[in-house]
Amino acid sequence: MRPPLLNPLFAGASGLKGIGDKLDKLLAQFLRPAHGTPGDTTRIADLLFHLPSGIVDRRFRPKIADLPLRGVATVEARVLRHRPPPPGNKRVPYRVEVSDGTGVLSLVFFHAYAESIRRVLPEGETRFISGTIDWFNGEAQMAHPDHIVSAAEFDKMPLIEPVYPLTEGLSAKILAKAIAQALERLPDLPEWQDLPYLQRQGWPHFGAALKALHHPETPAATGLDSVARRRLAYDELLSNQLALTLVRANMKRAQGRKLPGSGDLRAKLIAALPYSLTSAQQAAVAEILRDMASGDRMLRLLQGDVGSGKTVVALLALATAIESGAQGALMAPTEILARQHHATLSKLCEAAGIPLTLLTGREKGKTRDEILGRIAMGEVALVIGTHALFQEHVVFKDLGLVVIDEQHRFGVHQRLALQAKAGGATDLLVMTATPIPRTLALTVYGDMDVSKLTEKPAGRLPIDTRVLPMGRMDEVIDGLGRSMAQGNRAYWVCPLVEESEQVDLAAAEDRFLQLSARYKGQVGLVHGRMKGPDKDRVMAAFKDGTLQLLVSTTVIEVGVDVPEATVMVIENAERFGLAQLHQLRGRVGRGKGKSSCLLLYQEPLGETAKARLSIMRETEDGFRIAEEDLKLRGAGEMLGTRQSGLPLFRMADLSVDGELLAAARDDAQLILNKDPKLTSTRGEALRVLLYLFERDEAIRLLSAG
Ligand code: ADP
Ligand code: MG
Repeated sequence: MRPPLLNPLFAGASGLKGIGDKLDKLLAQFLRPAHGTPGDTTRIADLLFHLPSGIVDRRFRPKIADLPLRGVATVEARVLRHRPPPPGNKRVPYRVEVSDGTGVLSLVFFHAYAESIRRVLPEGETRFISGTIDWFNGEAQMAHPDHIVSAAEFDKMPLIEPVYPLTEGLSAKILAKAIAQALERLPDLPEWQDLPYLQRQGWPHFGAALKALHHPETPAATGLDSVARRRLAYDELLSNQLALTLVRANMKRAQGRKLPGSGDLRAKLIAALPYSLTSAQQAAVAEILRDMASGDRMLRLLQGDVGSGKTVVALLALATAIESGAQGALMAPTEILARQHHATLSKLCEAAGIPLTLLTGREKGKTRDEILGRIAMGEVALVIGTHALFQEHVVFKDLGLVVIDEQHRFGVHQRLALQAKAGGATDLLVMTATPIPRTLALTVYGDMDVSKLTEKPAGRLPIDTRVLPMGRMDEVIDGLGRSMAQGNRAYWVCPLVEESEQVDLAAAEDRFLQLSARYKGQVGLVHGRMKGPDKDRVMAAFKDGTLQLLVSTTVIEVGVDVPEATVMVIENAERFGLAQLHQLRGRVGRGKGKSSCLLLYQEPLGETAKARLSIMRETEDGFRIAEEDLKLRGAGEMLGTRQSGLPLFRMADLSVDGELLAAARDDAQLILNKDPKLTSTRGEALRVLLYLFERDEAIRLLSAG
């Protein structure tokens, strides 16, 4: 249970002044995009963890005669006179002239309420006025000053004012007020960092760091390299690394079992393959088999770009578990993918005599009971499914190896829960095509052993990628017709419209109607909202070539394998992330045919969007694409996509905190070596840290055994 000490931080923010119901929900979405769901409410901690992106320095206090040409200044002046606009003329602004004896400054208000201006600027009174200077017809003026206060209130004006990232519907003033109130509720927390380390780094305590960032005393106090921000970044990274290290320690603690295999099934499978393994595949299989044969528990990540052939590597590992008398499970992130795996592996398994079954959320009632019975009795050796595999009462007779495919689609929280649940001595292999840069990999997977598929199967031709404006849609449709007439198969992916699946769907349906009117009987549509069996039917028809053109939303993004498909059209490509485009493009170029990818964009195209699309044209190397993406967007955004499942750090910024991450990893290992149950005084404080960053699952592992 979360220590009561933290309750004030997890209390709702709705009690704060200025935060009504609507703003509460808006803030929750804005401040917790990775974890929040619609309808969530904001907590005090969410506000505190929302750090400023910069500051406005108001310390410059010139005389009016010395006002600079531009910039922010604070002047002390007497209100001379009000010059309201002529009645009925809304376009002329309301002006107020103020003077400090050296010159006159005009304060300018557009569409303002005369009354409130009169209230804050009474004639004859002296005021401190802070805002941005500009010049008009040789006169200094200030439009809509940021602050106007009397001498008595001067200490309330933030001379170094933090600037926060905002979203539509959220005003800077209200947010700043809410954060200031949240700060008052910050309880005293025990120090979880090593004191000598803190001193060496010159880092403040947690609370002091938050205060320094939200109420900066110097302009440098909020920078990316400020001691306060680095301290908080380190807290966040350490909580991440502690959680991952705990998971790993927990898994390794369970005695592994030896799954040496006999090689029989493997040999049969290899004989049944229509191709020979690449040397990268052979090397990965060898590494995996070595882990499985040893008494230690396997915790391995298989990384390989799209199309590199991870599935067959998984199959050979699973076969080895089965040869050793255990069962194997393969878990896919989507229904489509689970079914596809089942379909492709069925043929091979039949050749080798491996009994297998499929289990997803769709198998229900009697069928389900029967499947569950066969799994429990050990009648099936290989179970392929979605996360349904680990959700309910699925009992294996003797589960030896779990393979998780396209693992990035599962949230980190889900994965922690799953790994805790898999328990026992089960070996674990996770596979991903997400080409995440090294630093990011560490935050997602922790210290897993890694195998990489560095080469693609031989004979793959490069994909011809072109970038075209949407205005050339007609040509594209014509070209598609010619290609289909030659027997080619194509995907057509419709725009991803943020926030609204409804709109995504409507766009895909419209396009489907248009294309199927032109190419009758040849076009299919799949999307996420379709019923399972309907989806299967369309996918199957596309697989066997009955349908030649498949219109879809991004449901095909992950893992779908139809080697005969050679054309990929992506509409509004500028709206997709690079990693996603890479995944989508990876659906073609999987067979012997020459493939092409058409990226259609909406004009006008911004600079960054242009740069991103040209990277797609230049390279097919997933890692290079990921690195460029990181450069162009920064880690936060790269990881910030709703479903990526990757942790979105709120205070750490991986594009600058890489070395802090490495330190946090070492620190986490050291801490848990010395104090594996976190029971020392510092250990107790570290538990507070874990709860603070919502690593509750990891703490459960501490008590698990
Ligand atoms: P991914 O790594 O993206 O999951 P898949 O396992 O789906 O890739 O494999 C992509 C395609 O390549 C499949 O059609 C598969 O049959 C084929 N494939 C896998 N290994 C080889 C190989 N060594 N030689 C030729 N084709 C292969
Ligand atoms: Mg795959």
